[in-house]
Amino acid sequence: MSQAKTALVIGAGLGGLALAIRLQAAGINTTLLEKRDQPGGRAYVYRDQGFTFDAGPTVITDPTAIQALFTLAGKPMADYVELLPVSPFYRLCWEDGTYFDYGNDQDELERQIHALDAADVAGYRRFLAYSKAVLDEGYVKLGAVPFLSFRDMLQAGPQLARLQAWRSVYAMVARFVGNDRLRQALSFHALLVGGNPFATSSIYSLIHALERQWGVWFARGGTGALVQGLVKLFQDLGGTLELNADVAAFDVQAGRLSGARSHDGRYWQADAVASNADVVHTYAELLGAHPRGQQEGRRLKGKRFSNSLFVVHFGLNRPQPQLCHHTVCFGPRYQALIDEIFSGPGLAEDFSLYLHSPCATDPSLAPPGCSSHYVLAPVPHLGNAPVDWEMEGPRYRDRILAYLQRYYMPGLRESLVTCRTFSPLDFRDQLNAHVGSAFSLEPILTQSAWFRPHNRDAQLSNLYLVGAGTHPGAGVPGVIASAKATAGLMLEDLHR
Ligand SMILES: Cc1cc2nc3c(=O)[nH]c(=O)nc-3n(C[C@H](O)[C@H](O)[C@H](O)COP(=O)(O)OP(=O)(O)OC[C@H]3O[C@@H](n4cnc5c(N)ncnc54)[C@H](O)[C@@H]3O)c2cc1C
Repeated sequence: MSQAKTALVIGAGLGGLALAIRLQAAGINTTLLEKRDQPGGRAYVYRDQGFTFDAGPTVITDPTAIQALFTLAGKPMADYVELLPVSPFYRLCWEDGTYFDYGNDQDELERQIHALDAADVAGYRRFLAYSKAVLDEGYVKLGAVPFLSFRDMLQAGPQLARLQAWRSVYAMVARFVGNDRLRQALSFHALLVGGNPFATSSIYSLIHALERQWGVWFARGGTGALVQGLVKLFQDLGGTLELNADVAAFDVQAGRLSGARSHDGRYWQADAVASNADVVHTYAELLGAHPRGQQEGRRLKGKRFSNSLFVVHFGLNRPQPQLCHHTVCFGPRYQALIDEIFSGPGLAEDFSLYLHSPCATDPSLAPPGCSSHYVLAPVPHLGNAPVDWEMEGPRYRDRILAYLQRYYMPGLRESLVTCRTFSPLDFRDQLNAHVGSAFSLEPILTQSAWFRPHNRDAQLSNLYLVGAGTHPGAGVPGVIASAKATAGLMLEDLHR
């Protein structure tokens, strides 16, 4: 009887976890190596004084992609995690006190659009139809297809041309609706996956239809509970998760990877290795002793990377019933601010914020009578703005909290029980993210699909990538789709 094949997955982010589940479910003995003390990657969890803070993703879209992992493993998802619907999806707010509740009720949406500009109701309907067409072509058909050859790209060309993928998200939205605030409301989604709405391909306007089609969800207990559910699924299938396993280098023998070595001297052998770590880190560091790693690392460093984020997690000794679960706080400037976030050269004085208030859906994330939150500000990455975050961080945190107190959370400072921050330096140092980018390579057309680092390396035939830096890209549905694309290649190769 032949021995079972083995695989290593480096990094227990959501993409790494989804890939490890797919491999283990297909009978490959899979070991998941994670450098930190908890799995999840960007979806890490902090706990303090009874407060639970999700570090990263909170807007869970396309639950069918998560359900698929349980289905292929033959386990009921309900035994592992419960997803709760979020309504409205987001409350979009401006400084003058006006807001737009963006959700899934067509009549209610049209009522609000009519109040902004009656002429835009018909335009919105046409935009929704466009967004649905892009969802079908760009996500349902192509999201989990690995673009390994330029022929694949050429085959997708006619659809991309028909959908006018060369236009930006904002330019496309602006063709359908005229109201300035509605344009913001329909284009800001690109920011959720590290895209500049004024530069990212209009393909990313599919996020709108994705949310309308499958809703916006939140895991009971927080996104950390989703991570724990996926870890349990992987372990129930027989997979091995090793925490505090900081991989230092891949072992290459005769043009193939034969294993990985950690900084503390441990070694794991495998027939195939997939990296969920940052793509520059993967090539320049983990494969840095090999000419392929040096060459590809150099090439990738020349690419455009997404912005970073400054995140403040805080707990209050009061509930905040005036807040919805997800609030987008638009500042006084939109395009000019976004330009500075994506290009630097410094930190803007104003900001637009995303405020997370999970107790609106699940009060268990804070002690009784209290509330937990995080607020994030998109900021330039370290390559575009070399801000001294050790110095600037505390000042920036205080400015953000003062802004929230003024516009959204009266009495915030007096109610503060706990507070911690995560800056671009932490993205760089804790997650090995190149230039501290929060979402890896910027999702512009010339860095998407075939132009993105491929799910299988072009030269080392048993090295694979999974996660935000490979096809299709960042965001929870994106990295879970990348796991499907990568697993397809790995299983084909391993079963050959
Ligand atoms: C603050 C924030 C909010 C977000 N909000 C949303 C949202 O609401 N909805 C949404 O869909 N998306 C959101 N995103 C994007 C989404 O979270 C990410 O795109 C996605 O989680 C990235 O997953 P990944 O598989 O690429 O792995 P990552 O999460 O990047 O994980 C990679 C893992 O690799 C590990 N690693 C790195 N180097 C090594 C090494 N040498 N050895 C071992 N392990 C290593 C890291 O420690 C990490 O655990 C958000 C992102 C951030 C930062």
